[in-house]
Amino acid sequence: MSRPKRGTRGSRSERPAWDPDSAGRANAGFPCIHCGRVVPELAFGTSQRNHCPFCLWSAHVDIHPGDRSSLCRAPMEPIALWAATDGELRVLHRCTGCGAVKPNRLAGDDDDAAVDELVERLVRARGGRVR
Ligand SMILES: [Zn+2]
Ligand SMILES: [Zn+2]
Repeated sequence: MSRPKRGTRGSRSERPAWDPDSAGRANAGFPCIHCGRVVPELAFGTSQRNHCPFCLWSAHVDIHPGDRSSLCRAPMEPIALWAATDGELRVLHRCTGCGAVKPNRLAGDDDDAAVDELVERLVRARGGRVR
């Protein structure tokens, strides 16, 4: 019978307060990095919550979806929507730290107004008029 090794994992690096892992609980939710509202970890239409349903901001915590292994951890701003060929609408996030752009599925409970606001921002930036 082998004994489990202890103390070989190294020290945990300091994590910012908004880091979802810092809660140490599954599905407990975490405060949004941008608007500060508590984001429930479970979402309809996606297995992995990766952005705030209220303002759509995210954080650069994943290299692959859900792995939480990115060391960047900077806020990610929603910059555009992508109508993918599979018919699913995704939001593109751009990292304010390293500039990486990642597509993310919209969750079923994402705020429609936040999605509309993103669209309006794009239309306005192009000099168009919003209804
Ligand atoms: Zn938010
Ligand atoms: Zn980044």
